[in-house]
Amino acid sequence: MRAIRCTSCHRSISPQEDSVKFECPNCGAFTIRRCETCRKFSVKYKCPNCGFEGP
Ligand SMILES: [Zn+2]
Ligand SMILES: [Zn+2]
Repeated sequence: MRAIRCTSCHRSISPQEDSVKFECPNCGAFTIRRCETCRKFSVKYKCPNCGFEGP
């Protein structure tokens, strides 16, 4: 079982929480994941693949 980590805050995401995952809108090669907290507060994420930052 591998840990899923939030792209914004890097903490592990539990399966119960309301997290989101989507492809990087810039390169499409990396799957961005955001935990419930980061989603709620619109914390910025940064794609490790292309460096794209988004809300
Ligand atoms: Zn987070
Ligand atoms: Zn990217």
